[in-house]
Amino acid sequence: MKIHVMTLFPEMFSGPLGTSIIKRAQEDQKLSIQYYQIRDYSTNKHQKVDDYPYGGGSGMVMGPQPIVDAYREITKDTKKTPRTIYLSPKGKHFSQEMAMELSKEEELIFLCGHYEGVDQRVIDEIVSDEISIGDYVLTGGELPAMVMIDAISRLIPGVLSSPEAYEEESIHSGLLEYPQYTRPPSFEGKEVPKILLSGDHEKIRKWRRKEALLITRERRPDLFQRIPLTKEDYKLLKP
Ligand code: SAM
Repeated sequence: MKIHVMTLFPEMFSGPLGTSIIKRAQEDQKLSIQYYQIRDYSTNKHQKVDDYPYGGGSGMVMGPQPIVDAYREITKDTKKTPRTIYLSPKGKHFSQEMAMELSKEEELIFLCGHYEGVDQRVIDEIVSDEISIGDYVLTGGELPAMVMIDAISRLIPGVLSSPEAYEEESIHSGLLEYPQYTRPPSFEGKEVPKILLSGDHEKIRKWRRKEALLITRERRPDLFQRIPLTKEDYKLLKP
């Protein structure tokens, strides 16, 4: 997958997206991420990218010219117009389902806003998806873009060791995940549940399913309501 990021702060991305699994995905050429400094596209002699909002009010608004010129540069050689995502608290809430859908795209463009956001004409002209990462307001679209890129990239085939690595995870599976343990079997008087040391795969599977059902019912009744419960699930949930 090819990802293009339009931002005023490209330097913010190198830590989170230049480490661990996402770094390896780029080295293995499963993913390429290119950054476009919006300021470099400004035709203003001081490379200004923002201005006062028409109608008054506080803050500054990112103007259309540099963003649209950066977008034209990105899309001049693309075969098909890539989906263009504007990170915005006004957008549709990001979800694992959306990450799955977007991970199937060959190319994506992210536009990170700053200050009071971007001129509406940019959104009308180039944006296909306006997406929010949650009901809170951040300083800029850079952190939301990194969150989305991370969630999408790990679903690209070959980035994780196998699809099972994410299929059983919280949310993706429809349930919150069961508790995980590793060595040592006893830590400061706290024991790993005996069943996990038993080597009995069927018993372990049932224990994990039960734990996942219980934690989902307790913490996320909204998710729990949507799970089609099996006969075995009813049995597992019996007190
Ligand atoms: N004035 C805007 C509003 O009320 O909707 C908020 C602007 S915010 C301070 C600056 C930029 O941060 C936005 O343009 C957007 O790109 C990004 N941003 C802030 N919160 C976000 C969120 N929850 N999800 C996605 N992007 C967000």
